[in-house]
Amino acid sequence: LNIVVVGGSAAGMAAAAKAKRTNPSANIIVFEKTKYVSYAPCGIPYLFMGLVDGFDKLVYYTKEYFISKRGIDVRTRHEVVKIDESEKSVVAIDLESGREVNVNYDKLILATGGLPRKPNIDGIELEGIYTVRNLEDGERLHETALKSKVIAVVGGGFTGLEFAEAFIKMGKKVLLFQRRNHVIRSMDPEITKIIEDELIKHGIELHLGESVVEFRGKDKVEKVVTNKGKYTVDMVLASTGVVPNNNLAAKLGLKLGSYGGILTDEFMRTSNPDIYAAGDNVETKHIVTGKYVYIPLAPAANKMGRVAGDNAAGGNSRFPGIVGTAIVKVFNLEVGRTGLSLREALDNGYNAVAETIKHISRSHYYPGHKEIYVRLVVDRETKRILGGQIVGYEGVVGRVNTLAAVITAHMKTEDLSMLDLGYSPPFAPVWDPLVVAANVIERKLK
Ligand SMILES: Cc1cc2nc3c(=O)[nH]c(=O)nc-3n(C[C@H](O)[C@H](O)[C@H](O)COP(=O)(O)OP(=O)(O)OC[C@H]3O[C@@H](n4cnc5c(N)ncnc54)[C@H](O)[C@@H]3O)c2cc1C
Repeated sequence: LNIVVVGGSAAGMAAAAKAKRTNPSANIIVFEKTKYVSYAPCGIPYLFMGLVDGFDKLVYYTKEYFISKRGIDVRTRHEVVKIDESEKSVVAIDLESGREVNVNYDKLILATGGLPRKPNIDGIELEGIYTVRNLEDGERLHETALKSKVIAVVGGGFTGLEFAEAFIKMGKKVLLFQRRNHVIRSMDPEITKIIEDELIKHGIELHLGESVVEFRGKDKVEKVVTNKGKYTVDMVLASTGVVPNNNLAAKLGLKLGSYGGILTDEFMRTSNPDIYAAGDNVETKHIVTGKYVYIPLAPAANKMGRVAGDNAAGGNSRFPGIVGTAIVKVFNLEVGRTGLSLREALDNGYNAVAETIKHISRSHYYPGHKEIYVRLVVDRETKRILGGQIVGYEGVVGRVNTLAAVITAHMKTEDLSMLDLGYSPPFAPVWDPLVVAANVIERKLK
């Protein structure tokens, strides 16, 4: 059995490793364009902050490990440029020698990931304007950032906030431009205010509701022009989202969704039964709405890869979909969201209501307790919990993950208000903030 995997990051290597485990006699080849495989771009901002010493530390397993210990044929610096469905063949270019490599497959797995969304702004092609997707991008960005004094970050999503903090910790002046009136689009403004205050408190020059309309400069970017002003900068990081890398899939005529991601069934099979797809190049089912969404994050990419690899090798696994759980650290704040925000719930036709409560992370008498804010989004008719957002100085992540389970299990407010959560003064108050939030919204519903 010949299995060819295109892309050697999270989804691709999870697929290759699982396929080999399911069918040890399968012949598995992975083509990866960059020099790294099985890497964590998620760690790049922390390397900038000085917490990780070297890009090679962001690699989970090396190419040599996969070749010698797992028996997987990994070819880095190889770009797949053509796939022939009828011949079941793949053409890759060895980027070092320029040589063409031809291989045949029985099953193909597309794990080509995402690409940074390039905003349509005049001057975007100027030197000194960066996007980050992989470790090689990270290396280039780091080199320029070290030499820069003033850095503009365009986009106030999770990655934009992480890099804004990283640049501050590198001693840079940071301007953060966000087109909307609040940071993190998938959260509601009632709770993002706390995050915005934290950014300002730590020295970020935050420009909310300000659109970048042009980049100017002679040889490289020198000015950011917005609808409100002009700013002199040394460098720009454009962090304006991710789009599915669907080039090969589109050429093959595979079925794509409304976000441009490849559509698969729960076995990660595309519209061609011999071709699987996994990771940031696919759209996936949202467990709350049942609709296809594009929320490209690493935990799902790894799991989809594992399912695709298993099935391509003859196994029988399913990927159930996601609830959109995402967490991020913003200076001293912990931030998390799962399910639907109020805006998303209303957009999806729910008669939804939301409430935000402020509570404390541990018993009031236990030293070091911190503020924590919980926002729940609930369907008025069924009382089903549709989403949750939590911001605080500790104890956020465990509670967001609890909410992810609550939402996946279709629980209602009354289930959460009686859920048997743990209590001990150093960890939680006796009425956990999640339970309090459920009680408050229950009262509102009455
Ligand atoms: C800076 C940063 C921080 C992040 N932080 C988080 C986080 O904290 N939490 C989280 O959940 N997610 C985070 N993410 C997202 C996470 O990294 C992605 O969800 C994950 O990497 C997706 O894995 P993937 O394998 O699907 O795609 P990708 O990582 O995009 O990998 C696709 C791979 O395919 C290769 N490729 C593409 N086309 C070809 C071709 N034709 N031939 C050969 N190779 C090809 C690419 O070179 C690439 O290596 C972050 C991303 C970035 C960039």
